[in-house]
Amino acid sequence: MSIAPESSTRPFEKMSTLTCPHCGQTSTDEMPTNACRYFYDCTGCGVTLKPKPGDCCVYCSYGDVKCPPIQLGDGCC
Ligand SMILES: [Zn+2]
Repeated sequence: MSIAPESSTRPFEKMSTLTCPHCGQTSTDEMPTNACRYFYDCTGCGVTLKPKPGDCCVYCSYGDVKCPPIQLGDGCC
């Protein structure tokens, strides 16, 4: 058995950079760990981003890092 001693902490990346598919604007934000962010207003063009079909939140669809529940393998809300 070789389980990492830190396995109980289950670290995850909490910052994600969203890229707007309309204008290319990027924004790095801290993701909420207890809720999914379903809508995001682009700071560049003002469009309201919504998750793509099958994704639970805007970070999964447009971010470079998926949301914490997905990272931890728990599925999502
Ligand atoms: Zn935009």
